[in-house]
Amino acid sequence: MQIDFLIIGQGISGTFLSWYLQQEGFSFLVIDQPKANSPSKVAAGVINPVTGRRIVKTWMIDEVLPFALNAYQQLGEAIGVEAISQKNIIDFFPTPQMKLAFEKRFSEDQQYLARPDDEYNFLPWFNYDFGYGEIQPAYLVNLPGILPAYRNRLQQNGQLLEEVFQPELLQINSNSIQYKDITATHILFSDGIASAASPWFNLLPFAANKGEALWVEIPDLPDTHIFKRGFSLIPWSKNIFWLGSTYLWEFDNEDPTPGYRQFAETWLKQTVKPGFKILDHKAAVRPATLERRPFIGFHPLYPNVGIFNGMGTKGCSLGPYFAHQLARHMREGTGITPEADVQRFRRILSK
Ligand SMILES: Cc1cc2nc3c(=O)[nH]c(=O)nc-3n(C[C@H](O)[C@H](O)[C@H](O)COP(=O)(O)OP(=O)(O)OC[C@H]3O[C@@H](n4cnc5c(N)ncnc54)[C@H](O)[C@@H]3O)c2cc1C
Repeated sequence: MQIDFLIIGQGISGTFLSWYLQQEGFSFLVIDQPKANSPSKVAAGVINPVTGRRIVKTWMIDEVLPFALNAYQQLGEAIGVEAISQKNIIDFFPTPQMKLAFEKRFSEDQQYLARPDDEYNFLPWFNYDFGYGEIQPAYLVNLPGILPAYRNRLQQNGQLLEEVFQPELLQINSNSIQYKDITATHILFSDGIASAASPWFNLLPFAANKGEALWVEIPDLPDTHIFKRGFSLIPWSKNIFWLGSTYLWEFDNEDPTPGYRQFAETWLKQTVKPGFKILDHKAAVRPATLERRPFIGFHPLYPNVGIFNGMGTKGCSLGPYFAHQLARHMREGTGITPEADVQRFRRILSK
């Protein structure tokens, strides 16, 4: 088999990478090992335009957010899935100080923020003492709809191999790569945290980050918004909510922990008024990076070996934008955003 790109991984990164490479007229094959706890399968799918206690705008959000909205709508139409919906975030203030911080930010810059007329209108469902601010627009990406539907499309087109990619079988030639019976001009790794142990990219400053989530049935809760009070409670499907998450830099394994379940259950008892039932509990390791910027582009010593990775906590917003950027780069030679371009590590990668 002769193709332009061999892509490793079909999380949200490999999905958009293959989607945009195809739109640029390239041929490709995706190799993906089905894994129940990949971060793309455990993630909530929120695109939140602001972050942190000081409610600052997230990196590149003014470009990335409108691009993502359009990208999910187009992909969704092609695969018959409602891929994205607006779900603004109700940010309950945990302390009077947080309320003041929100009000200060709001008085300086109202972009992505709103103040409600009645900040106690969610009292029938939630316990909270200091009101709330609204983050808007925020979006919820339908990852459980998109990933299998896109996978089906790949399968039907003969563009997917469901197996484990074995790095030791990859042969890199000067103008191509060879993997088993596949000859490709380039190979691109969108294999999540697996790249941290890759023979080609293990020197990149990955910072694996484990997160956990519960799926909870709460029949009497509004599904109109995302509700945040430390943890986020996110409408998932009818009467089911996603509750997360944690950000662990040190961990021994990828498994869900009893500690998280207990902590989240206590949070639910303290925060949510209706009764609830815990249905599921999952954990996954985010492909995060030390400087919180993605790794995109080609290896300085092996120009046909590339990476599309390091999406950290923001795969849903960064994935579409940078996949398009990389596909345009391959077709037209246009630039890759310097903070994301893996060439910034060329000295490390050349060792
Ligand atoms: C609890 C939690 C909540 C999150 N919430 C959000 C959120 O609300 N919004 C947001 O934007 N992000 C969120 N994230 C982060 C998000 O999940 C990641 O940024 C994103 O999923 C990364 O996608 P990816 O495709 O790069 O990697 P992955 O999802 O890891 O996909 C990599 C794929 O490669 C495959 N693979 C790996 N190695 C091999 C191999 N050797 N052979 C074959 N296949 C292989 C894997 O099986 C997988 O399918 C969350 C993460 C967690 C853990």
